[in-house]
Amino acid sequence: MIYAHIPFCESKCPYCGFNSFAASDPPQNAYIAALIRQFEVDLALRERDRFDSLYIGGGAPSVFEAASYEPFFAKVLPFLYRGAEITIEANPNSLTLNWAKTMRSYGANRISVGVQSFDDRKLKRLGRAHNGSRAKTALTNAREAGFTQINVDFIYGAAGDSIALLSNDLNEAKKLGATHISAYCLTIEENTPFFAKPDMALDDFETEREFSRLIESAGYPRYEVSNYGKVVSRHNFGYWEGRGYLGLGAGAVGFARNDAIAFRYSPRRDFKSYIDDPLCKTTEVIDAKACDDERLALGLRCVSGFNALALNEKERAKADLLVERGRLKRDKSRYYNVDFWLSDEIWLYIKS
Ligand code: SF4
Repeated sequence: MIYAHIPFCESKCPYCGFNSFAASDPPQNAYIAALIRQFEVDLALRERDRFDSLYIGGGAPSVFEAASYEPFFAKVLPFLYRGAEITIEANPNSLTLNWAKTMRSYGANRISVGVQSFDDRKLKRLGRAHNGSRAKTALTNAREAGFTQINVDFIYGAAGDSIALLSNDLNEAKKLGATHISAYCLTIEENTPFFAKPDMALDDFETEREFSRLIESAGYPRYEVSNYGKVVSRHNFGYWEGRGYLGLGAGAVGFARNDAIAFRYSPRRDFKSYIDDPLCKTTEVIDAKACDDERLALGLRCVSGFNALALNEKERAKADLLVERGRLKRDKSRYYNVDFWLSDEIWLYIKS
């Protein structure tokens, strides 16, 4: 798995805590050259040199001209298995038909569009740069360019949300060909303008649950806390299953493990420093217990579940008790959560 981070957006949304920068004229060629340099060096450190997914995320990768990606694809594609999942994220204002077609021609076969909502008033409240009409055009462009795997990102739990609004958003996405939905609850992050406006988030658990039910009944089965679709994102599934991945780009995170050691690494977060030295990284060693805790937390959030080996004896007894009470299912050595809304509570119970 390869993740490449493009940390540029046309403007900075007031709730966003990601490593992203508003830039009207981002240094696209220098940045792509830095990604390639990091890829070459990181590749040399790995035992296996083939990958089954590439995910280009951000930020908003569509703020780079499509042609600027050509050298990156030329470098990376020979290292991908045939049939690899290649996802590119895009934002509505910059997802033009030409951009989407060019990405298809480079090999992208999945697109993830930051729609968030089609409702103009909600988009304005969220401080988004696009409107509902642009979001519709963007999805139409993605389909016309030949994308058959189209993810739509939605935000819910925002002030002003109602079942009617969320349901309308969902119907529009389905009509426009969305094959996958990612629905994220608005969280108020420190060091963002929304931190001073906590009432921008709507604490309404019933609405959240109902939205989730609506997405499922619209034909998108829930397979992770925030993700729905008949065809799962292979790349994201890899994260939840604890697989290693390359993390390319400013502030990206990579993960590597073997029998003896697991560690996370991250290149510099500031894009200018990254371009200057894409090989400078901070590294964090993750001990076996932290790895197991993570396996449990992620496994409780998705249909792949977790292995009993991630638990010690006491924790296994608690997990078995939850099986008896119908909160978990067990199949041989794997446990599966039957209600993702309770992931955090179950984790706390097992770990306490
Ligand atoms: S477009 Fe996405 S990454 Fe960029 S500022 Fe808005 S929320 Fe953050």
